[in-house]
Amino acid sequence: MESVIVAIDGPSGTGKSSTSKAVAAELGLSYLDTGAQYRAITWWMISNGVDVADPLAIASAAAKPVIVSGTDPSAPTITVDGLDASGPIRTQEVTSKVSAVSAVPEVRARITELQRSIAAAAEKGIVVEGRDIGTTVLPDADLKFFLTASPEARAARRSGELKGKDAADVAATREALVKRDHADSNRKTSPLAKAADAVEVDTTDLTLAQVIECVVALVEEKRVAT
Ligand code: C5P
Repeated sequence: MESVIVAIDGPSGTGKSSTSKAVAAELGLSYLDTGAQYRAITWWMISNGVDVADPLAIASAAAKPVIVSGTDPSAPTITVDGLDASGPIRTQEVTSKVSAVSAVPEVRARITELQRSIAAAAEKGIVVEGRDIGTTVLPDADLKFFLTASPEARAARRSGELKGKDAADVAATREALVKRDHADSNRKTSPLAKAADAVEVDTTDLTLAQVIECVVALVEEKRVAT
C-alpha cells in the first residue's frame, strides 16, 4: 500500500487531536501533534527564563531546545532536552503563552523543518495535525482537512476535557480560545488558515465517531484511486 500524508488543520476544540489519533490508528499510520511541539518550545522558553513578550529573545534561543516527538498514535510522546514534556506542556501558563512564541518566524522555521523531516521518515504515511500543515508545512499532502465548530461547541468540549464544567468555566474557556485563535489567525508567518484544496468539516453537530468515519472514508477512497 502506498504511503499517504494527511494534513488536519483547524482551531482549538474542533476535535483535531482525537480525530487525527483515531484515523492514524485505524489506518496504521504515524501521528504528529504539531501543537505539542509549539507547546514544548514554549515550555522550554519559560523554564529557561526567556521573556516570551520579547520576540528577539525568543528568536535567538529558538535553535537551542532539542525536541523529539514519538509518532505512535496509541501513545504519542514528546521530550525536550531528554525530559518528558507531555504533562508540563498542558498547563494554563504554557497555553496562554504559546501563541506569542509560535508567532516568531525563527521558531516556525525551526519547528517546520522538524515536522517535514518527521513526515518524510514515516514509511507507511502520517496524519499531521496543526494550524498550517496544509498551507505551509506539507502543501503537497495527499489529503487535507480543515475542521471547524462553533465557538460554543469548542469551549464546551475544551471545558469537558478540564476538571470544572460549570457555566463560568465554559465562558472563561471560550474567551481564552477566541483570543488564541485570533492571535493564531492574524500572525504574519503561516497563520491558521484553510488550504484552498482542503475538505472543510464542520464538527459542531457531529459525534467524534462520525468525524473519524468521514475522514477515514475519504483517505481510503484516495488510497484506492492512486
Ligand atoms: O493544537 P494546540 O492547541 O495544542 O496548539 C497550541 C498552539 O500552538 C496554537 O494555539 C498555536 O499558537 C500553535 N500552533 C501553531 N502551528 C501549528 C500547531 C500549533 O502555531 N501547526
